Amino acid sequence: MNRTVFVNGEYLPETEAKISIFDRGFLMADAVYEVTSVLDSKLIDFDGHALRLKRSLDELQMAEPCTKEELLEIHRKLVEKNGIEEGLVYLQVTRGSDGDRDFVFPPADTKPTLVLFTQNKPGLADSPAARKGAKVISIDDIRWGRRDIKTTQLLYPSLGKMMAKAAGCDDAWMIEDGHVTEGTSNNAYFVKGGKIVTRPLSNEILHGITRKAVLRMAAEAQMEVEERLFTIDEAKEADEAFTTSASAFVMPVIEIDGVQLGDGSPGPIAKRLREIYLDESRKAAI
Ligand code: PMP
Repeated sequence: MNRTVFVNGEYLPETEAKISIFDRGFLMADAVYEVTSVLDSKLIDFDGHALRLKRSLDELQMAEPCTKEELLEIHRKLVEKNGIEEGLVYLQVTRGSDGDRDFVFPPADTKPTLVLFTQNKPGLADSPAARKGAKVISIDDIRWGRRDIKTTQLLYPSLGKMMAKAAGCDDAWMIEDGHVTEGTSNNAYFVKGGKIVTRPLSNEILHGITRKAVLRMAAEAQMEVEERLFTIDEAKEADEAFTTSASAFVMPVIEIDGVQLGDGSPGPIAKRLREIYLDESRKAAI
């Protein structure tokens, strides 16, 4: 593969892209990111991702690398240059480097590092994984306390996915103080008696862009939604469950900790929400 990527103002072949070894993104995970999906060569919910990026940067007192309009142009150019019809645009901003390692932030005028690259994923929308549904396990949530900031500290979520794989499953839901927080890379929901239940927004979970859109669409479709804390046992007794994320949209969950939900196939509400989400998102894509 030889993608064209974007690094600090330049479009380059991926093999020629360079970042300093002193970059704080590399040394300290002092970095935030966004992932925007691409369908029909257009960006899904770009505004939502740009807004959350700004919030993550503000929370960490990190400078904005460029304007929202410039970011949009870079996204679009990369989609075009790499011929992406279905896939993802990954964006990362780091606090940059002043040429050494120090816990103290570098001077405020240090230029942030901006990197973007595409991932080509034909069949992202019509995904066999979504038709089958995902099996999840539950694990302790031992991440830091500011999960609302989308940092690149992804070692524990990555270990969580590996724990799931080792158990013959697809993903893990994390549990803190007896309640489910979220999936390793998605927000978590269950459905019981027609009601969709998901954890309310707080610093304990990422404020998913897909979550926001899906909850709005569920309300518009007259589905009942309750935002409250829930346990893994409640989820195991549910009629169905699902997750949401920009990279997998609405993903049905068919098994939790070895307990099959319903008849073990994707539930009707998850399937319907996936359809509505894909349909509405394609229409609003830019
Ligand atoms: N929670 C976590 C921990 C995530 O990593 C993600 C995906 N980035 C999400 C939720 C879903 O967020 P979004 O819908 O914005 O992709």
